Formats: sequence, structure tokens, C-alpha cells
Amino acid sequence: MIVKAHELTKKYQHIYALRNVSLEIGEGLTLIIGPNGSGKSTLLKIISGFVKPSGGFIRVFNEDPWRKREKIITKIGVSFDPPRMPWWYTGKEFIEILANMRGGSVRKVLGIEKFWERRIYTYSAGMLRRLSIASALAGEPELVILDEPFSGIDLKSYEEITSLVKDLKEVGFNMIISSHIFRPLKSLYDSIYALDAGQLIDVDEYIHKTQLYGE
Ligand code: ADP
Ligand code: MG
Repeated sequence: MIVKAHELTKKYQHIYALRNVSLEIGEGLTLIIGPNGSGKSTLLKIISGFVKPSGGFIRVFNEDPWRKREKIITKIGVSFDPPRMPWWYTGKEFIEILANMRGGSVRKVLGIEKFWERRIYTYSAGMLRRLSIASALAGEPELVILDEPFSGIDLKSYEEITSLVKDLKEVGFNMIISSHIFRPLKSLYDSIYALDAGQLIDVDEYIHKTQLYGE
């Protein structure tokens, strides 16, 4: 198992972002679906060592991700939602720093080399999303986490990102992808969880509900 969580809880003041979440994530592609505010980003931030849980148990590669965050982050590539990147670097500089840190090569995906000599603060939303996804792959980490890769992008990017995920899966990347929409990755995942209001809910029920709205 790559991730093991037992009764994981995260409280922000009086709000439970996650409440007693127990799950296991193995190799391949795992999808985390759920509406806005359901706790997806919080879960991904805990897995990647950026947020400290309030309660429960979590291990990622058999380590406590919060206590061992400096080690874990060399094994995990993360694309946050909204994208978080060092605005004053060029895309190329940022990607190369990450690749060096993780000791692997750079994958020039999603056309990033077209704009990667530019400083990141000049990027459009679509470019930021593309660079953010590419940054999660830089250095070929053991686990790639993509938080809402389909958020705020046009149709062309939507198709390119779907086909990238398919290629990455074929070459054997382990991935955890969160999405408030289910359709683009529905034929690609190996395992799936659905969150609502911080708790795991029945996946089929959630999919049925969202499909009523065409998502
Ligand atoms: P999702 O990614 O599914 O949209 P989030 O994990 O971002 O959900 O948020 C889950 C809940 O936790 C929401 O109610 C959100 O407002 C709250 N939350 C998330 N981060 C913080 C924070 N840093 N401080 C306070 N509340 C937060
Ligand atoms: Mg989110």
C-alpha cells in the first residue's frame, strides 16, 4: 500500500474538513471525487505532508507524512488547486529544480516548453495549470498527486490532460487525482473514493447524482 489512513480527521476551527476517513491507496490510478468543499484538497495536502491531521492515523510509503515531510516530498509530485508556484521563476527553472531534487528527468508534457522561458507570473490560467501538472511529474516521483487537473481550463486542455493521464498510467506512474467531475477519467481508474462533507460516501450514488447534471 502507498497510503493507509484510519479514522483520519482534520478540523479547521469548528469545521470538519475530514471526519473519520479510513482508506487504502495502492498502485495505479486512484480517483477522489466529491463536490466542492468535500475535503478532497485537504486529504491530498495531508498525504503530501503539507497539512497536519487533527486526529487519526496516516502512513504514506510507511512514513508519517507530516513528521517526515521533507523526505516524503522528494517521493511525491503534487499539483495543487489552485496552482501554487514560485511566480518569479521561469517555468523551466522551477521544473528543473524539482527534477534535480527528485533525482529524475523532466517530462516536457502539455506543450510547456512553448512558454517555459517566461516568468511564471506572466502565465494565463491554462498555462499555469499545464505547468503545475508538469511540475508534479518532474523528476519521475514515485507518486503523482493532481488536485483538480480539469479546473478552469478549455476543451482542448481537457482532452490533452485526459490523454496525458492515460499515457502516464500506461508507463506505470502511481497517481492520485481529485476531481469534482467524474466523466473524463471514468474508464481509467483502478480505485475510487467519493467524499462529501468530509466523509467517505457511496461512490455509485455520487456518480449517479452528478450525472443528472451532465458531469
Ligand atoms: P475540496 O477540495 O473538496 O473543495 P477542501 O479540502 O478544500 O475541499 O475543503 C474542505 C472544507 O475545509 C471546506 O469547508 C473548506 O472551507 C475548509 N477548509 C479548507 N482549508 C481550510 C483552511 N486552511 N482554513 C479553514 N477552513 C478550511
Ligand atoms: Mg479542492
